[in-house]
Amino acid sequence: MTRARAGTAAAAAGALRRSGGSAGRGRKRTSPRGGAPAPTPAPPPARHHFSDPAEVEALRKNLLAWYDRCKRDLPWRALAATEPDADRRGYAVWVSEIMLQQTQVATVIDYYNRWMQKWPTLQALAQASLEEVNELWAGLGYYSRGKRLQEAARKVVSELGGHMPRTAEALQKLLPGVGRYTAGAIASISYGQATGVVDGNVIRVLCRLRCIGADSSSPAVIDRLWDMANALVDRSRPGDFNQALMELGATVCVPKAPLCGECPVKQHCRARCRVEKELALASQKLFGKPAPVPDVEDCGVGDCPLCPPATEPWDSSLGVTNFPRKAAKKQPRAMRTATCVLERRGCRGGPEYLIVQRPSSGLLAGLWEFPSLPLAQDLQEEKEREVLADHLQAWMGQPVAAKGLQFIGEVIHVFSHIHQTYVVYSLPLDGDVTLDPASPSRWVTEEEFHASAVSTAMKKVLKAHEKQHRKETSPGKGSKRKRGAKPQGAGSTCPGTQLSLHAFLRAPTAP
Ligand code: SF4
Repeated sequence: MTRARAGTAAAAAGALRRSGGSAGRGRKRTSPRGGAPAPTPAPPPARHHFSDPAEVEALRKNLLAWYDRCKRDLPWRALAATEPDADRRGYAVWVSEIMLQQTQVATVIDYYNRWMQKWPTLQALAQASLEEVNELWAGLGYYSRGKRLQEAARKVVSELGGHMPRTAEALQKLLPGVGRYTAGAIASISYGQATGVVDGNVIRVLCRLRCIGADSSSPAVIDRLWDMANALVDRSRPGDFNQALMELGATVCVPKAPLCGECPVKQHCRARCRVEKELALASQKLFGKPAPVPDVEDCGVGDCPLCPPATEPWDSSLGVTNFPRKAAKKQPRAMRTATCVLERRGCRGGPEYLIVQRPSSGLLAGLWEFPSLPLAQDLQEEKEREVLADHLQAWMGQPVAAKGLQFIGEVIHVFSHIHQTYVVYSLPLDGDVTLDPASPSRWVTEEEFHASAVSTAMKKVLKAHEKQHRKETSPGKGSKRKRGAKPQGAGSTCPGTQLSLHAFLRAPTAP
């Protein structure tokens, strides 16, 4: 046997072990070519799936009745229920689903209402500029979502005659940025297709209902959950059923302290059943009664791909929150970025700030920010100032003295995969600066800054700058900056004094 064949055989044997079956135990099917019958993959262990049609019916009924009673009143639900135009309806659900990815409902509502007011149709969105999209999206995070939504809307208008695809399969295939979950949600909620959805809330609910304790982000578990969601979805009210399952995860079967007592599907929940049996066992022991062995230990299949791994068995102290389980998350990467709030007095007397546009791809693509520069880790402060000064010079086209930069403080912002520390400086200017017209940059008032497509991190930076400014200008309150550099004015050492550009540009570079 060659090494490759040996590997294949071993992998097959491993897969068979993981599925908990054997060639002898699997149901047989005849090969289409009439050869030897091929083994059918073993069904999932009974403990992990819904095998009783009567139970499925009861679960659907209980869940939908609860949803009808308790569902939250949300703007996209109202549109999905009342909008007669199928394309508008699909678009309304699509926008909500994209916004709700990674973002809380409470945050999304205001963004959603403003978005739908501004672009009520696919056609309206297709005509918007990316700048407008970014401005409205500012603060919602994961900015590529808005961009992709608009690109897909343009595609529907230009290539699909303005009509939304009507099935999950076509939505996923034809619309960029629409994955399996979003496609299932749009198709079931807008068009009544009986297809399931699996998002974070559904994963949690299903893993608890069926005691699935293997890594819930693994392909094997995700595939099983999709099968389960597709089998469970109510055939006559698929959109409501999917929303009900997600609503249950968002409001009752929450991650840390689920409200099992109020749960409409508690009688179908195997995690809860296990907790109750353990409690009953404990009380029997307490009163010295004979303790029957509970049939809740595991599914009875060795190496079950859905049970918790042997190294992380059921922990009684966690109760139902034993499920779901995830492989340890990768720590976000630490990054340091120097950023400078360049400030001048505007023509109406108020401050104006220089903002520049980020590249059109990558993190925070196309958004506006204070001139910023990624820093190498462990850079000395002096060197930090020098590289930032050089960077500012590139924007301003004139030499900038490192000593003129006033240290404000550090602002932390955690993106999904990056732990970002902004090292914030400011530079007050009296004179004007001739900006390079070829580089995207502009002066904005505070109001304009907040209306621009700027990230939440940059808003935090401005806030830190304003706080420092207030400290310095309020009587009797000196600056508490740790990293020392005084604002450098034209011969003045008063905190908060505006620096004339002329004086600033003449400031010495040596310490
Ligand atoms: Fe979740 Fe508890 Fe309901 Fe089970 S009984 S589905 S754990 S809320």
